[in-house]
Amino acid sequence: MAANYPEFIWQNGKIKPWAEATVHVMAHALHYGSSVFEGIRSYETPNGPAIFRLGDHLKRLYMSARIYDMAMPYTIDELAAACREVILKNGLTKAYLRPVAFRGLGGFGLSAETPTDVAVASWEMGPYLGPGVLEAGIDACVSSWQRMAPNTIPAGAKAGGNYLSGQLIAREARRLGFGEGIALASTGLLSEGAGENLFLVFDGQLHTTPASAAILNGITRHTLITLARANGIEVIERDMPREYLYLADEILMCGTAAEVTPIRSVDGKPVGEGKAGPVTRRMQDLYFGLFSGKTEDRWNWLDPVA
Ligand code: PMP
Repeated sequence: MAANYPEFIWQNGKIKPWAEATVHVMAHALHYGSSVFEGIRSYETPNGPAIFRLGDHLKRLYMSARIYDMAMPYTIDELAAACREVILKNGLTKAYLRPVAFRGLGGFGLSAETPTDVAVASWEMGPYLGPGVLEAGIDACVSSWQRMAPNTIPAGAKAGGNYLSGQLIAREARRLGFGEGIALASTGLLSEGAGENLFLVFDGQLHTTPASAAILNGITRHTLITLARANGIEVIERDMPREYLYLADEILMCGTAAEVTPIRSVDGKPVGEGKAGPVTRRMQDLYFGLFSGKTEDRWNWLDPVA
């Protein structure tokens, strides 16, 4: 997005010019990481632009807020309307949506009762992990940073503060020349990518790390599990040791931003044949088929923008 900002943003109930959506420097969230947010995509479909799993993303936003006792001043329906409005106002079709709610200005103590500010931004976004990665795959590394231990910072909340962990993992990986970092949980077992869930393929079956492995319970992860099972591909949720990364036939990362990205190497060792394998390609076809119309949307996941 860099300098090419969209024209409008929704903030606290109103559409505003992008430049006017400002926050006080003493807002609670800026100091203490007290924000919750979502990343959602809209796609062009044969029936017009549609937001993918909007209701599920907003439900997760409200669950994240609930974990932190953050009062939400709007209903889910009101925020869903805001998401549609900001896409339409900016004239976007294929877009990334970013609803964010945060403790605003109102007190400096950790437990201060602050007002919750809410904004929704949207902009055009291509493949998150770089151009061409959906075809070519990425080179990943195991991060030297682990994910949060259980009962420290809840990994299942999509809160701003969690992304300090994500930044350490992603920045270390980029610094070392890798496309993305994979983190281990505090148990030493596999967790997930800096901003993506993880699937390994063994003998044609998909294996993915469980909620107890300090992951964010990803909506793309759930989508892939559902699509795979509906198409006769077995999915197993299980803990896995690090060395499985070096033994898997295929590995993929998934997330709203990363979509379905093949991993072609880990720590310099090729995964399988060093390129996207057949199960990964099949999952990409099923996933992107939801937007082209090739995969039937039996779950009503596509929410029309207009
Ligand atoms: N894990 C983390 C840490 C993430 O930030 C994301 C992106 N939201 C995911 C997994 C994937 O989640 P989703 O598929 O819901 O975007």
